[in-house]
Amino acid sequence: MSQPRSATPTQDDLDTLSLQLGRPVRDVVEIPARCRCGSPLVAATAPRLSNGIPFPTTFYLTHPTLTQAVSRLEAAGVMAEMTERLGQDEELAAAHRAAHENYLAERERIRLAAGVDPVWEIDGITAGGMPDRVKCLHVLVGHALAVGPGITPLGDETLDRIAEDWTPEVCTCAAAWDHDAEIPTRDLSRHVRRLKEEQQ
Ligand SMILES: [Zn+2]
Repeated sequence: MSQPRSATPTQDDLDTLSLQLGRPVRDVVEIPARCRCGSPLVAATAPRLSNGIPFPTTFYLTHPTLTQAVSRLEAAGVMAEMTERLGQDEELAAAHRAAHENYLAERERIRLAAGVDPVWEIDGITAGGMPDRVKCLHVLVGHALAVGPGITPLGDETLDRIAEDWTPEVCTCAAAWDHDAEIPTRDLSRHVRRLKEEQQ
């Protein structure tokens, strides 16, 4: 338990995210959810990337075991099933709309923490199909893990439904990614540095 539990990402956290995803991460503001061992489960990203591109998906799942478990559920057609239920169950539909509002509020909090200007391009727009549909379970699970249970009912439900493959009770980090691989972040920064040198 030597790893920090703080939301503020350390360089170690950023390196782990890059290893988990197999690519460099950028503009990560917080680690809003961690494995019981301390490794990141979710990255919170600024709503505008430093290259200027708007980024509506504030909470991004990074842990490979978790991501794959959610992908398997998606492949089973659960989004269509949930979207159909939203059309039939008014209470569920209202809770899903409230989750959308919470997502916007959380993104505003992350925006202020990142110190970036309001992002007009995605004003009122969230992700994952909210507020009326379900298009991506990864978005809902990222939100559920970041804000805790009781905010996004379909994110909470997805976590229940993947419990055989991934649960917060069990750390699978040792086998979930290559901990000894070269860190993609460093790779790219070298690459970018070389490109810049070539351009001068
Ligand atoms: Zn772990």
